[in-house]
Order: sequence, then C-alpha cells, then structure tokens
Amino acid sequence: MSPESFILALDQGTTSSRAILFDHHGVARATSQRELAQVFPAPGLVEHDAMQIWRDTLAVARSALEQGGVGPDRIAGIGITNQRETTVIWRRDTGLPIHNAIVWQDRRTAPHCERLRRDGHEDLIAARTGLVIDPYFSATKIAWLLDNVEGARGWAEAGELAFGTIDSWLLWNLTGGASHATDATNAARTMLFDIHRQCWDRELCQLFDIPMSLLGEVRDCAADFGHAEHDLFGAPIAILGMAGDQHAATVGQACFRPGMIKSTYGTGCFVMLNTGAEAVASQNRMLTTVAYRLNGKTTYALEGSIFIAGAAMQWLRDGLKLIAAAPESEYLANSVASTDGVIMVPAFTGLGAPYWDADARGAILGLTRDSGIAQIVRAGLEAVCYQTRDLLLAMSRDAAATTDGSTNGSAGGAGLQLDTLRVDGGMVGNDWLMQFLADILDVTVDRPVVTETTALGAAYLAGLQGSVFPSIADIGTQWQREATFTPQMETGERERLYAAWQAAVARVRTVS
Ligand code: ADP
Repeated sequence: MSPESFILALDQGTTSSRAILFDHHGVARATSQRELAQVFPAPGLVEHDAMQIWRDTLAVARSALEQGGVGPDRIAGIGITNQRETTVIWRRDTGLPIHNAIVWQDRRTAPHCERLRRDGHEDLIAARTGLVIDPYFSATKIAWLLDNVEGARGWAEAGELAFGTIDSWLLWNLTGGASHATDATNAARTMLFDIHRQCWDRELCQLFDIPMSLLGEVRDCAADFGHAEHDLFGAPIAILGMAGDQHAATVGQACFRPGMIKSTYGTGCFVMLNTGAEAVASQNRMLTTVAYRLNGKTTYALEGSIFIAGAAMQWLRDGLKLIAAAPESEYLANSVASTDGVIMVPAFTGLGAPYWDADARGAILGLTRDSGIAQIVRAGLEAVCYQTRDLLLAMSRDAAATTDGSTNGSAGGAGLQLDTLRVDGGMVGNDWLMQFLADILDVTVDRPVVTETTALGAAYLAGLQGSVFPSIADIGTQWQREATFTPQMETGERERLYAAWQAAVARVRTVS
C-alpha cells in the first residue's frame, strides 16, 4: 500500500454519527459529525430510526472525504465502530427495517430477563457468553421484535429477515445487501454468541426462540467485509475493520498485552482489562468479553462500567448550578486541600459494577457548616476515582483467582499484574482528576496524544487488514503519551480516603 493511503473510520455512537479520515500515521485529517435523534416512545424505552442512522453515516462519510480532499481511490479501507447491542431487524428482500432500532439503554425486556433468571438460566448464559442477564444485550430485544411486530415471527421462520447490531446494519447498506456479517466483539454482546467456541450458540438461540437464519457471519475484527458500492462514493471502497466502541477504544489505546487497561471517561466510564488468551470468568460481576479477534486468535477482556462519571459534572452544572462549565471543576478541586470529609455517591441511576444495585440512589454525606461549593464539586470528581478503584479491585481479584485461587487481590493482583491505566474521553483533560486517579489507584495513569481512540481503533483495524499498518506491534509504537500521572499520595491517606468511600457506598446500597 502506498504511504499516501488514508483510512475512513465510521464511528456510529448513541448520540451521534461521525466519520474521521485518518492518514497512515494515525493522524485525523478530517472529521464530520451529525447528532442522532433519540426516540422515547415511553419511559424506559429508547429507539433510533435505523434508516436515519444509515443516511447520517453515509452523509458524514462523504463529507469527511470531501473536507479531506481525498478521492475514494486513496482510501485503503473503511473501519466501522459502533454503539453496541442496539438491535435492528430488516427484510432481506427490501432491506427495510421492520421496526425502529431498539437501543442498548432500552429496558422493555426487563420482565423477560427476570423470567430467565427465575428459571435458572444465569449460569448457562454466563458460562457461554460471559454476560449477566440484563435487557442491555441484544437477545431479548430480538425476541421482543419477533413477538411484537405483526408478521415478524412467520417471516423469520421463512428466512426472510436479517438481524444485526449497528455494525452489520451499516455493512449491509454499504454493500447494497451483499454482505451480512459482524465481528466477534459485536457478536459477543448479543447474548447468543459462545465466546469460547467463537460461534453462534444453538442452545441459546433455542432458549430465546430466535431462528439462526437471522444471524450473519462472524468475522475477525480485521477482515474482508465486502466493498462499499461504487455509487456511494464514486468507486468501490473495501470495508476492512469492525469492532464495538469500547473494543475499538482498547485497540486505539494499543492495549495489546495482558494486564493493559484502558478507561474511557465520558458521560459514564468504561474500563477494559486485557486478559490475553484467557477468558477470565468473573466472580465479582464484571463482564467477560472479546477484546478483539485477529487472525482467528481471540484476545479476551474483563469489562466494568460506571454509570455516572462526567454526568455528575453535568448535574453540578445544570441541576445544582454550582459550576458554569465542567472544566471549572478542576480549579475548584485545586482550591481546597481536601473535601473535609464530604463524599458524593453519584448513584443517580443505581450503582453499576461491581455492586449492580439498580435501586440505590445518590447521596452527599459528611456535610458540615463549612462545606462549600469547592468541597462538593471536588467530592464529585473524587467519586469517579473511587469507583474506578472499585472496578480495578474487582478485576484484579478475578485475575488473581484464576491463577492462585485467592480472591483477595489488591489493585496489583497476584494473577495478572495490572499495568498503567490508559485514559481517554472528555473528562481526562482535567489534570487534577488524573492525578487524584493515579493517587487513589496507586497506578500510573497515561494520557495519550490522540484521545479520539474509538475511531482511531476502527482505523487501525482496517489499516491492519489493508497493510497500511504491518502489525499490532507497529500500532503499539504509534501510541504516544501526552502526559503521565504517577501516584504521590501516602498509603495511609489513600486507604483512609478509600475506606470512607466504601462506608459511604454501604449507606446507599439496598442489596449487599
Ligand atoms: P460522551 O462521549 O459520553 O458524550 P465525552 O467523552 O464527550 O462524553 O465527555 C463529556 C463529559 O466529560 C461530560 O459529562 C462533561 O461533564 C465531562 N467533562 C468535560 N470536560 C471536563 C473537565 N475538564 N473536568 C471534568 N469533567 C469534564
């Protein structure tokens, strides 16, 4: 491939569709974005117009090419990354969706999930898929569509329908219906995919009553997925990469060795720990997932998520009006030596991993007559760090338990030495937060030059397949540190603060 090759990354997220044109150094040369309308048919229900997703994605792709002044012949390949689990079913003959896409946040299938738990399917599902039973994943959404869209079940049984997460939906449309496929990371979030055997699971399909004819072929993350049709861009372009957003971010952060971790701090926070060739079964309610699959070889990860990270800053800004903009939090946190014992537990929508307490609600504890805006805002930032430590502790216990049977691992567990934490997302520009994170975790925190890691990961995957990047080792050398934060807090102080956090969490929990 010539050195002037470019890669087009399509990043289809929950709130927007973006296209970024990357050069062969992994530098973004043009970006185009469109906001995506959210459809809320009723409380707890979230849908997207699948046709809109396709139209927007095509529009931003064309616009990024135009802005970059690059013709289709200069594009070595397209990489797709996407919001995960969101479910589309369409007719194979017309290519039209039978319903709006059901978004990952949608809770309509909670009763179905409750039935599955009651009927004792939790262990089987965890063993095969690495997931906990939750409406979050695609399987119950597919079942809901087949049962609730008139005629759908009959069409499904006649082989007339196709299911896809957003990656497959975009691929189908880009290729004019020629390719119905997905990649192993997206497949791993459907709850129908055996992450160990790396194939759709017949028994799970039967359990959810989903005909296997709906499912596409599962490929590596770097693979030949087909060609975007000539008419779309003026020449065919190969589609060469695909991964779900958090998996693409893991690749974009070049977390290629076991023990490497990336954490994305946006509205919420997603942590992924590379566990190598071993799928570590979590005893601490982390998810076991496919980090990426290359050349038929699967690399696994443990994943944990925090529902509220940057969203706490939005609440301080819009709800309490204590700050005018999120970056002000840095100045305020710096303006006081501590929170003077004030702790915020931002459990606005319950607590995620490792607590999984949907009914817990938020609290601010330890207030005194001296507590002011600075202490409360700082407590909101500190909570992000304490929650990250909750996740890393749970992950290191899981990793330790796999090798020595111990479940008491510290943040640098015996089984898998946790490496530095690579961070990205909107919050990581806050230097105070990054330093406190390093202090509370007792782990070095690295911030990269490129924080658009999701799109970059998709570009890397396509570039691997298109020989723009020779190997993941080569990609690893492209990763560049912008800043490092090393732990400076004394152990006694760290443990005292974390114990106070744990005591505060215990006060809001409804289940233990
Ligand atoms: P998402 O991709 O989830 O929309 P982003 O990665 O764009 O989120 O990050 C935006 C979030 O980061 C917002 O919740 C915002 O409050 C928070 N944020 C942005 N800048 C800062 C900052 N300097 N300090 C603290 N929080 C910040």
